[in-house]
Amino acid sequence: MIIMKFGGTSVGTPQSIANVLQLVQQRRAEDPVVVVSAFSGVTNALVELGNSAPRGAADLGPITLRHRQMLADLRLPGDLLDPLLGELADLTRGMQLVKEASPRAMDLLLSYGERCSARVVAAYFTAQGMPAVAVDAFAAGLRSDSNFGRARPVPDDGRIARAIDEARQTGLPVITGFLAADKHGNITTLGRNGSDYSAALFGNALDVREIQIWTDVDGVMTADPRLVEGTRPIPTMSFGEASELAYYGGKVLHPATILPAMQKNIPVRVLNTHRPDSPGTVILPRYSEPGVPVRAVVHKPGIHLITLVSPPMLQQHGFLARVFAAAAEHEVDVDLVATSEVSITMTADRADHLQGFRDALGGLGEVSVESGHAMVCVVGQGIAAEPGVAAQVLGTLAEHRVRVRVISQGAIKVNIALVIDQADLARAVNALHRRFFG
Ligand code: ADP
Ligand code: ASP
Ligand code: MG
Repeated sequence: MIIMKFGGTSVGTPQSIANVLQLVQQRRAEDPVVVVSAFSGVTNALVELGNSAPRGAADLGPITLRHRQMLADLRLPGDLLDPLLGELADLTRGMQLVKEASPRAMDLLLSYGERCSARVVAAYFTAQGMPAVAVDAFAAGLRSDSNFGRARPVPDDGRIARAIDEARQTGLPVITGFLAADKHGNITTLGRNGSDYSAALFGNALDVREIQIWTDVDGVMTADPRLVEGTRPIPTMSFGEASELAYYGGKVLHPATILPAMQKNIPVRVLNTHRPDSPGTVILPRYSEPGVPVRAVVHKPGIHLITLVSPPMLQQHGFLARVFAAAAEHEVDVDLVATSEVSITMTADRADHLQGFRDALGGLGEVSVESGHAMVCVVGQGIAAEPGVAAQVLGTLAEHRVRVRVISQGAIKVNIALVIDQADLARAVNALHRRFFG
């Protein structure tokens, strides 16, 4: 069995859905289970809808039209999505009436993107002679906590394999990515880009031979091709490198994707739906490329720098424990940390809980929060063995007059991460990419 996950652009047009059918048909012998995202742009449109509904102005028109047009173009029954689109209209109306979009209602609203796309893809496969069945991940046993908007899965006890086995009696399963359900049956989402994570979770639960992530680029690239010129695909990476890359902003994979694959040593392959013959990237449990310490340069915009200055920190036991207890209490994910005798600087990428964290730290010393920063990270397992990579990184940034605010290189040395001004981001990432891949 293999998982074939198709992202939004891979199912964004009738032509790309026809491509997807061909790709799946060609791999019929490998027993594919398909995971799909919403059509490209639909999740963004739903987020917009949810944000505007409480203010009274919610226009469902473009979303409905997009799906109806897709049905027409694929020659599928025009009323196929009427039940779902009807529910979506009711929910939107409800949000308008109560003037509220709670995180729980927002996840329910977002779920319609994947629920619609899975139905369209399954119906199209069936109409073209390959019987398929749409499967809602939340009905197929994918359970999560109730952290709406960024839910985390809870351990599976065989429910998923049983549900998918049953679905396979009817046809090839086309599962909704991005979605799960909490213990009360509420639909949750796994965070933006979460369909990659879904693919890995189903891959793990079904013990597949390979998890394939089909997207719109030729694999995991040496940097984000939208920001950097001259990027190229990385043929092979290790789980360790790919997790660091995903965590530090390599948007091609949701940050948590590698973990479920790693637990069962399942290779992850990243491929281009629009150029299926290009070899893509394979991510393996262990891999090293001698003499190539740096494998990719990734970045993450929208970083907040939190600095706490506290002279009493000097030689005080348990100080850092108190700082991180406050972070845990306010659900702030701290990415990087740098400390000195009297200060600690941390980064976080979500602003929504920062105020509470800031207030809590206020009791420990003087706090400042600076926004408008970005993280740049140089990833590669060989960084550990090669002396001087950090010097090359800092030298290159200095040459391009990029001011570095925080530096972090762990003892495991799979990466070197830096915080810079967001205004310098494109210059910094391009310069580093030229330095290591030019
Ligand atoms: P999908 O809809 O298939 O999930 P995404 O847009 O989520 O696709 O992810 C693919 C995009 O990730 C690419 O189009 C590219 O712009 C971006 N990206 C960022 N960093 C990288 C990288 N290192 N390698 C490949 N793509 C990257
Ligand atoms: N549709 C969701 C999003 O746009 C999940 C995904 O595409 O992976 O974030
Ligand atoms: Mg994605």
